[in-house]
Amino acid sequence: MQGAALTLYNSLTRSLEPFAPLDPEKGARVYSCGPTVYNYAHLGNLRAYVFTDTLSRTLTWKGYPLTHVINITDVGHLTSDADAGDDKMEAAARAQAKSIWDIAAHYTAAFKQNLKDLNVREPSRWSVATDHIAEMIAFAQKIASQHCYELESGLYFDTSTVPDYGRLAGTQEDVREGRIDPVAGKRHPQDFAIWRKSPPGEQRLMEWDSPWGMGAPGWHLECSVMSLKYLGAPFDIHTGGIDHREIHHPNEIAQNQAYCGCGDSGAHFWMHNNFLVDRQGKMSKSKGGFTTLQSLIDAGVHPLAYRLMCLQAHYRSELEFSAENLAAALTRLKRLAITVTALRAKATEAATGAVLPQIATLLGEFDTAIADDLNTARALVALDAMLALKRVDPAQQLAAALRMDEVLGLGLDTLSREALRLRPAAAAIAAEDIEALLAERKQARADKDFARSDALRDELGSAGVEVMDGDPLGWDWRPSL
Ligand code: AMP
Ligand code: ZN
Repeated sequence: MQGAALTLYNSLTRSLEPFAPLDPEKGARVYSCGPTVYNYAHLGNLRAYVFTDTLSRTLTWKGYPLTHVINITDVGHLTSDADAGDDKMEAAARAQAKSIWDIAAHYTAAFKQNLKDLNVREPSRWSVATDHIAEMIAFAQKIASQHCYELESGLYFDTSTVPDYGRLAGTQEDVREGRIDPVAGKRHPQDFAIWRKSPPGEQRLMEWDSPWGMGAPGWHLECSVMSLKYLGAPFDIHTGGIDHREIHHPNEIAQNQAYCGCGDSGAHFWMHNNFLVDRQGKMSKSKGGFTTLQSLIDAGVHPLAYRLMCLQAHYRSELEFSAENLAAALTRLKRLAITVTALRAKATEAATGAVLPQIATLLGEFDTAIADDLNTARALVALDAMLALKRVDPAQQLAAALRMDEVLGLGLDTLSREALRLRPAAAAIAAEDIEALLAERKQARADKDFARSDALRDELGSAGVEVMDGDPLGWDWRPSL
């Protein structure tokens, strides 16, 4: 596509770099670290996939063919990053008295539903870790003699055998200091397990035979193996949350270097989204008390309000999750829905003729913004400015809005103001009753019976419905946040 050259921030060089596919024929090849399916994704996890979706939509907007792989981690991710603790999947299966396969199937389906609710496009391929155990063993066998050593607890990767270990994370010192070293016998604190042997006399819920005995792969191995298998090496972009920049991705890089016998990290760009935080700090599944997308939907908040909230911030900035931020995003989305619905009504025929100069300029600003390391916040400003143009052909305005929405993914082609208002799942009141009480309250106000009007407001409030007098966007109620 014509337009601004795409520039992306590469965590490996800590700088903005121009992007072009390594192999123009293959197009852009992207691998995103996927969820560990032992629990529901929290909103922070989902920020990572709104980011990868923005990236993949932008690559498509720029005209590159795209191959995008997301993995599903159903083995190997331990409760501690330092090769200690249980496998998260096994711990969840025990706690919930279910099989690991049931746990994985349940949370994988829930995750995919989350992505659907957020208009995150399906990747070209989902790849499931436990479908690749034989390939993981073959990979480990290839690098074992030169790069690994065996201890009673497993096969460990010797990080001193590859150049520049930890470059992605920062200095090696930072990496070392950030580590605890609970496994006796490791040569260096940052060495990590690539195969974890089942303890003698113990049967793990998930274990496979290997040259190092019964056991299970280390978590980092799966991403090296699956990205190499489906994308080849080196591929274009590897993504993950910023926590992966410290341990998981440096370890993947070390494995990739060992496997290719070269200095290559395995990917041209390593990109990381920053955290979604709440007032208690980074959201995490293991801390408990996280907020899921479903809990927002149940509270009556449309999931795309969360998507818009993410897009309002740059993916490399921390984003604070709060009811106020979410309510502001919902209001903005409502405004967009109203404007685009009006355009749909006015634009009776498809846009014809050359794009009007004012619209072309704003499409250009939109393009420049997303080409500048996915600056969605600025891109949204260009959308707003384009929708605010007066006395222009509505069909052209609508076409431009939908074109921009190919990157934003807000579903503007069908979104309506009414569809944005969800009835809270726990609302102790039916939709018709809300309307009846609101009508009664309107009458009380007309009769200047303010005591009755206030009592009705309180009654609605205790049922989870906030009355909105004089809302400029025409909602007379919304779910209480
Ligand atoms: P997990 O299921 O824990 O493997 O994480 C899935 C993805 O979410 C990874 O890319 C993590 O880096 C990312 N992630 C985890 N917590 C947060 C957070 N609070 N904000 C943004 N991304 C996160
Ligand atoms: Zn990964």
